[in-house]
Amino acid sequence: LSALSRVTRAPADKILGLTEKFNVDRHPNKINLTVGIYKDNRGRVTTFPSVASAQSLLETSLDLNNDLSYLPITGSQDYQNNVLNFLYRESSDGSELLENNRITFVQTLSGTGALAVASKLLATFVSKTVWIPNPSWANHSNVFQWNGFNQIKYYTYYEDGKLSIDKWLKELKESCSSRDPDWPPSIVLHACCHNPTGVDPTLEQWQQILPVIHDLGITPIIDMAYQGMESGNLIQDAYLLRMCLEYEWPNGLFVCQSFAKNMGLYGERVGSLSVVVPPNPLDLKSTIDSQLKKIVRGIYSSPPGYGSRVANLVLSNPKLKQQWFVDVKNMSDRLWNVRIQMHERLNWPNLVDFKTQHGMFYYTGLNPYQVQILQERYGIYLTEDGRMSLSGVNDGNIDYLCDSLRQVVQ
Ligand code: PMP
Repeated sequence: LSALSRVTRAPADKILGLTEKFNVDRHPNKINLTVGIYKDNRGRVTTFPSVASAQSLLETSLDLNNDLSYLPITGSQDYQNNVLNFLYRESSDGSELLENNRITFVQTLSGTGALAVASKLLATFVSKTVWIPNPSWANHSNVFQWNGFNQIKYYTYYEDGKLSIDKWLKELKESCSSRDPDWPPSIVLHACCHNPTGVDPTLEQWQQILPVIHDLGITPIIDMAYQGMESGNLIQDAYLLRMCLEYEWPNGLFVCQSFAKNMGLYGERVGSLSVVVPPNPLDLKSTIDSQLKKIVRGIYSSPPGYGSRVANLVLSNPKLKQQWFVDVKNMSDRLWNVRIQMHERLNWPNLVDFKTQHGMFYYTGLNPYQVQILQERYGIYLTEDGRMSLSGVNDGNIDYLCDSLRQVVQ
């Protein structure tokens, strides 16, 4: 018998598996509302004007470093400078940290890659315990598990249609107060547009949450996959980063950032991991740099080039950057418009409050059985937890969608 027969069958990916099913569904009115890819009002995945301009500039210019050779292990220096500038000079007030050389950087394979590289470092050297919100993006626990964490803990984030901060903080306090301080756990915090609920703590609530996390010695991992999609303004949406920078984090502040959604560069895998390291010992940053390089080298050696060149141009060319801000605002406006239209059509008093939610998803409150009926009878695909990607809703299908939803909750 082959030793490979010890391989056990893994369950299909909770989100991507549904698209496979959708693709072979023959329902004439089928709608895919599972995956978080932005589509316009005609149901097309379009390239943002800023990104399209950057692409054509790259195509026509010979001096924009267009060659296909390897990038350095932690990515291109230009990209690093521009992303750090965007995150720590424009989105937040971290200039001093940059000047004091306190931020390590890796150009990563989008947000997932950033989470994976951060996990490897943390699980190898800091501790193997991580707290994840319940509910959260389904891939979080998978990423942390595969990259060395052996204790995945869940804090109650949302219950009965609303945030449950008191319970969340109580759980952290009960579990972490008596822990060995040499092995501090990490915690995943969604920067904005929490996936799947679409509900985030307010600034006042974060002011209540962050001191608790800080005082318990927990290491924050900010997962910033939707910057710009909450308010429509990229800078405004970095509020959690700004607030976290008001503290010194003795075990570092980890920032996993993605251009997948806010530049529409999904498949190009463009993102970053930056770690704000404590000021002492003096060579700590370069030591961490050395391990991050080793981690990357051991998994994929170096990141892909093309998408990061596009992002780099958008970030560094003032005209393209201005356009990018407009593009993000347009996307966010359309999603908000869809949310309001559905709210008005459905007039659902008994389900989750629409207006406290924002971003790409509508967390409907439908149960798995209702989700299944929607799929089987109406060809409408949501994730099992009742999360609906609003980007798949448009003028052509909103009536059918709302009629079907009404039938299912009757
Ligand atoms: N974090 C969250 C919460 C997400 O929803 C996603 C995308 N679905 C990611 C991280 C990572 O996405 P990507 O790797 O495409 O940047």
